[in-house]
Amino acid sequence: MSKAAFKGGVHPPERKEATSSSATQWAPVPGRLVIPMSQHLGAPCQPVVAVGDRVVRGQVVGTVDAMVSAPVHSPVSGEVTAVGPWLTAGGTRVTSVTIVPDAEQDLDSFVPVEGDDVRTLVRAAGIVGMGGATFPSAVKLTPPKGLDVSTVILNGCECEPFLTCDHRLMLEESERVVAGARIIAETVGAKRVVIGIEANKPDAIAAMQKAAGDGVEILSLVTRYPQGAEKQLIWALLRREVPHGKLPAAAGALVHNVATAVAIADAVELHKPLMERIVTVTGRVARPGNYRVLLGTLVSDLLEMAGGIVGEPGRVIAGGPMTGPALGDLDVPIAKGSSGIVVLSPDEAAPLVDDDQPCIRCGRCTEGCPMFLQPFQIGTQANRRDWTAAEPLHPVDCIECGVCSYVCPTKRPLLQLIRLAKAAVIAKGAKL
Ligand code: SF4
Ligand code: SF4
Repeated sequence: MSKAAFKGGVHPPERKEATSSSATQWAPVPGRLVIPMSQHLGAPCQPVVAVGDRVVRGQVVGTVDAMVSAPVHSPVSGEVTAVGPWLTAGGTRVTSVTIVPDAEQDLDSFVPVEGDDVRTLVRAAGIVGMGGATFPSAVKLTPPKGLDVSTVILNGCECEPFLTCDHRLMLEESERVVAGARIIAETVGAKRVVIGIEANKPDAIAAMQKAAGDGVEILSLVTRYPQGAEKQLIWALLRREVPHGKLPAAAGALVHNVATAVAIADAVELHKPLMERIVTVTGRVARPGNYRVLLGTLVSDLLEMAGGIVGEPGRVIAGGPMTGPALGDLDVPIAKGSSGIVVLSPDEAAPLVDDDQPCIRCGRCTEGCPMFLQPFQIGTQANRRDWTAAEPLHPVDCIECGVCSYVCPTKRPLLQLIRLAKAAVIAKGAKL
């Protein structure tokens, strides 16, 4: 029996069939890797290598002392050939280290991270939220004083259309997911561990149930986007509301993605830094599938490894199509938060429209918004750049799920407008 969903949301066509049933395979080592110094929320790293340096797999190539940050490591042995700005999927240029790999690679060995406790190892391994949030995991494992985290939730929803990397991970590495969940729970002192999986992945639910063992609950959730958003997941699983402006810990919960849990288990038990991840490559490509990709592999190389784009691409999206940015340049690197590359045909890609499309007041965006906002009104104020009028409409509460843009019949670019309003209202508050 599936747990009831949150209010609002949508059920877009899932489009997961092309990749959900084929086993994950290693993507070949590319001719060069580009490692951005910022693959996380928080302070960017500083490069600690220079052009001409030789590096080995697992060696730190960038780090910084700031608390909210995560070091970056070389996924290969090779030579540093450049250090400088490089375009990333988010559209910004970030200082990056380019490495040309040696002809022979031993992907089974690496420089181990050092540390005596879980948080130190997780920090040293450079682990961040791999569902896309990219918040440094060591910080998340240290809830604010006075807040009692009674339940650890692992997010196995993977509610974005097209993406199946977490699905395959739960099938192929179920026991590692559980190992990570137990480490997280023990670290924060949580008594309960719940892994939430959407009902459209019955094989993953069965595999996780088999691996779970005592004290780990596997709960099936209604398939509805954005079921994997933190607040919606906590509500669906625990019927607890995260108070406005507070962290999930205020509701006694801590949420990690299933891939992050495996990375944590690898850091703590194997002392392994984060150097690769599973990426779904799908849509109009010759060989859609899930690939274990060395971080820093360029999207252009990854698409080639997947047999290349078939036909005329309408849009190449980094991540899922509900929230992921369309890539203007394919020479951007795969980073710690890169869950997928989706190639849409011109027919499938929604038209890009101006920000002055008419609102016909159909109410669909308000009905669909899982945060109970009024997207059409925020969009209107954002069009006028009237941030004083936008502020009481709470754009800051927007979780940027993209449901409003998806359901709007006149294709108003609501998500972009609301992001604009959110940033402006936050900046306004910062100036006060
Ligand atoms: S306003 Fe924000 S939270 Fe609401 S549907 Fe739009 S993107 Fe999602
Ligand atoms: S869905 Fe679009 S047309 Fe309908 S109320 Fe919202 S903004 Fe207006």
